[in-house]
Amino acid sequence: MSIMNNFIINFCLLFTTITLLFLPFRNQPRITPKTNVKTRLFLGGAAGLIAVLLMFNSIQIDVARVDLRIIPVAIAMMFGGLTSAAITGLMIIGARFAITPLDQIDAAILSAIVISVFIVTISVVRRYVRMTFWNFELMIGIGILYSLPAIYLLTHSWSTFFKVSAAYIFFNLIAGFVTYQLLTELRRHFENIQYQQKLAMTDALTGLANRRRLDDSLSLVGSAEDGYSLVLIDIDFFKHVNDTYGHDAGDDVLRQLGTTLASLARPDDLVGRYGGEEFLIILPDTSAAEAKKISELARMTVARNLFPTTSVPDLQITISLGIAHSSGSHTSLEALQQADKALYHSKKSGRNRSTIYTKALELEQA
Ligand code: GH3
Ligand code: MG
Ligand code: MG
Repeated sequence: MSIMNNFIINFCLLFTTITLLFLPFRNQPRITPKTNVKTRLFLGGAAGLIAVLLMFNSIQIDVARVDLRIIPVAIAMMFGGLTSAAITGLMIIGARFAITPLDQIDAAILSAIVISVFIVTISVVRRYVRMTFWNFELMIGIGILYSLPAIYLLTHSWSTFFKVSAAYIFFNLIAGFVTYQLLTELRRHFENIQYQQKLAMTDALTGLANRRRLDDSLSLVGSAEDGYSLVLIDIDFFKHVNDTYGHDAGDDVLRQLGTTLASLARPDDLVGRYGGEEFLIILPDTSAAEAKKISELARMTVARNLFPTTSVPDLQITISLGIAHSSGSHTSLEALQQADKALYHSKKSGRNRSTIYTKALELEQA
C-alpha cells in the first residue's frame, strides 16, 4: 500500500511540475535538437529538477530507490535530444550520490550506470524514429528494462522485487501515457489560442492588420517618447469601381492595394486596413518629411500600376493620403483626426495626392 502511495505522490509531482515547466515554452515553437543550445540546456535543467524532486520522494526498499525519474529524462530527450537529456542525467547522478550514505555507494554507482546507459540508448532511438506516442512509450520501456536488474540487485528478496517491480512497471507506463497526452493537449491548447489571437488581429480580406490591431498599436505608439507619423489612405472614387465592375472586382482591388502598401512598408511600420477602403500606416520614429516621402512613393506606385481583376485586366486606381506627425504632445487619436483632415484636403484639392497636416490647413477648413 505504501508503495502505491509513494508512486501516486510521484505521479502528482510529475504532472504539476510538467505543467509548470511547459508554461515558459508555451508561445515558442516546439523544442527540437536544432533549437538554440540555451533553450535546450534550460529544458534539460528543468527536467533535471523535476527528476530530483521525484527522487526525494522515491520509495526506498533496502538500498534501492524507486521512482518515476526516467519520465523527465525521456521528455528531455524527446524535445531537446542528447544535450538536454545529458543535463537531466547529470543532475540525477549528482543528486543520487548526494543523498546516498557512503556505505551504500555501490547503489549510487549502479544507479549512475543504469541512467547513463539508458540515456545513450534512447539517444540512438531518438535519432532513428519519429517522436510519436508509441516511441515515447518505447523509451520508457527501455528505461524500465534497464532499471529492473538494478532493482533486483539492490533489493534482497524475490518477493520484494516482484512487488516493487510490478508497481514500477505499471506506474511508469501509465505516467508515460498521461505525460504524453498532457503535453500534447497543452500544446494543442496554446496553439489554438495563438491562432485565435492572430485571427482576432487580422483583416480577413487583405491579411493585413485589422482595426483592432491598429488601435492597439496606436495606443502604444501614442505613449512612446519618439515622434511618429500616421498615413491615412483612401481609394479615389472606389464606389465607381464597385458600381461599374462589381463588388468582387472591388475586393480584388482592395487585396492588391494591401499587398502593394505592405511591400512599401519598412520593417517597423504597421500597415492595416482601418475600415472599408481606408488603410492606415503607422510609422514609428518617423518625421513628417520621411512620412511624406513614403506616402508619395505609395501614391505613385499605385497610380502607375495596373490592378487587374478577373473582369477588368487593365483597371487603374489612384489613392489620396493624409499625413500627421506627432512628437508625443498629443494623443494618437488626435493625430489620427489630423491625418483625416489632411486626407480630406487631398480629396478636396483634386485627389491622387498626399497632404501633411498643418494648423493652417485646419483654419482653411473651418
Ligand atoms: P472618394 O474619392 O471621395 O473617396 O470616393 P469613394 O467613391 O471612394 O468614396 P465613398 O466613401 O463614397 O465610397 C467608398 C466605397 O467603398 C463604398 C463601398 O461600397 C466601398 N467599400 C467599402 N468596403 C468595401 C469592401 O470591403 N469591398 C468592396 N468591394 N467595396 C467596399
Ligand atoms: Mg472612404
Ligand atoms: Mg474613397
